[in-house]
Amino acid sequence: MKKLLLGDQAIALGALNAGISGVYAYPGTPSTEITEFIQGSPITKERGIHSRWCTNEKTAMEAALGASYVGKRALVCMKHVGMNVCADPFVNSAMSGVNGGVVVLVADDPSMHSSQNEQDSRFYAKFAMVPSLEPSNQQEAYDMMGYAFELSEQQGLPVMVRVTTRMAHSRAVVEIADAPRAENELSFPKTPGNYVLLPANATRRNKEVIAQQVTLENMACESQYNALIFPEAGKRYEKGVVTCGIAYNYLMETFPDGVPFPVLKITQYPIPKKLIKELADACDQILVLEEGQPIVEELIGGVLGSDKVKGRLTGDVNRTGELTPDTVKAAFGLACEKVYEKSQVVLPRPPALCQGCSHRDVYTALNDVINEYPNAKVFSDIGCYTLGALPPFRTISSCIDMGASITMAKGAADSGLFPAIAVIGDSTFTHSGMTGLLDAINSKASITVVISDNLTTAMTGGQDSAGTGRIESICLGLGVEPEHLRVMLPIPKNHDELCNIIREEIEYKGVSVIVPRRECIQVMNRKLKQKRANKA
Ligand code: SF4
Repeated sequence: MKKLLLGDQAIALGALNAGISGVYAYPGTPSTEITEFIQGSPITKERGIHSRWCTNEKTAMEAALGASYVGKRALVCMKHVGMNVCADPFVNSAMSGVNGGVVVLVADDPSMHSSQNEQDSRFYAKFAMVPSLEPSNQQEAYDMMGYAFELSEQQGLPVMVRVTTRMAHSRAVVEIADAPRAENELSFPKTPGNYVLLPANATRRNKEVIAQQVTLENMACESQYNALIFPEAGKRYEKGVVTCGIAYNYLMETFPDGVPFPVLKITQYPIPKKLIKELADACDQILVLEEGQPIVEELIGGVLGSDKVKGRLTGDVNRTGELTPDTVKAAFGLACEKVYEKSQVVLPRPPALCQGCSHRDVYTALNDVINEYPNAKVFSDIGCYTLGALPPFRTISSCIDMGASITMAKGAADSGLFPAIAVIGDSTFTHSGMTGLLDAINSKASITVVISDNLTTAMTGGQDSAGTGRIESICLGLGVEPEHLRVMLPIPKNHDELCNIIREEIEYKGVSVIVPRRECIQVMNRKLKQKRANKA
């Protein structure tokens, strides 16, 4: 059967057909559609596959490890910065090993279309000493999921599958050969002690995983997904090319009639050193095409030198941002075809909060109040409300990572700033703001926390928010004083009320929490449309 699928959908279908018993994920562009596809799949409904969103990427990884412990296959999905949150259980899962297969799908966002950095998740796989796969097209993305689960179970390690934005968000025809595999039966680890990472066990496992690297590298050399292709055997070439992941696809587009150079296609790591040596022996120079950071170029160039190895580090390929068919052409000194006239392209426009969004009412009131305080600073978090940094509001002065608003406000207040205000959304609050609030309460920091509650995870398309209906009880449970927990409806006619609440709570010398609550209008409209459609 052939289907036209987004890369994310191909991954989701590949995982379903590989017999997963659960997907554990926190939404994040460009990975969100994987879990949404699984949630909407008839296979999920029929089998009762777990697909509810997790509170954050760390809880997702740990739940997947629990599923694996009892023998089941589990998929973990996140965007690249989610790997920072998940790093603790991810790195340690190589030490514990896995029982049922665990595949960690990470979607990187080079060019930072909707992210705060360009980090490359392949570093994490190398760091944790686990194998990783990087599909070069949507068909491989589908095929690799079954392979990744088998590899994970065969090697007793989690396997990372790394994709980038264009792979996740572009469509291609994918051939679906398999019927869904049955889920694994419950079974327990043959070496349960591995899961107890006491120093004695961890020391033994560390040696085992290090020894295993030879096998993993040999597997990468023999992998059906890696290939060393010579146009003509036995000839010496001026140039050879190493492609990683989607770069292979771009190279094929650049040379539709055949690449005139030897090509090493890498889509399974650790890097296949034997194949690299074979390529290097046959070529005077090697060009490395990889999306993200120059990991492979650094590894090869560190030995062979930058006269021989070219890429992002040497400036022969764009150092930052996505690779594109055009940047790949440019790396070969070829002219780029002009496909569209400028007038045919949608002109860029600055991002802005939707008209009618509740965050607008929050920032309008905050601006009115903080103008009364010369030193006021507003520390923000990650969500739609980060757009409060831009005109017309320009309210916020920071946005670092999920949960940082409360802890940064606390640190600034500890250092004497007054007033120190944090703005965080409901989903980000449960993701990683709660622990920061506990810190602030324990040290009686003088901060005002605004949890702008739109009852959803809006920025990624309106997924469930883990704390919906329980934000107040969570705050009270953490120790916020009931009289300094203020909930209100942020609409224009309540502007003065919101201003007064903000003023009163700023003046309180302790932790206060204000919860302006109004549903995201995009989500509300979608629900209304759905309701009307159901009635019709
Ligand atoms: S999607 Fe929702 S929360 Fe985000 S800006 Fe639009 S209305 Fe506001």
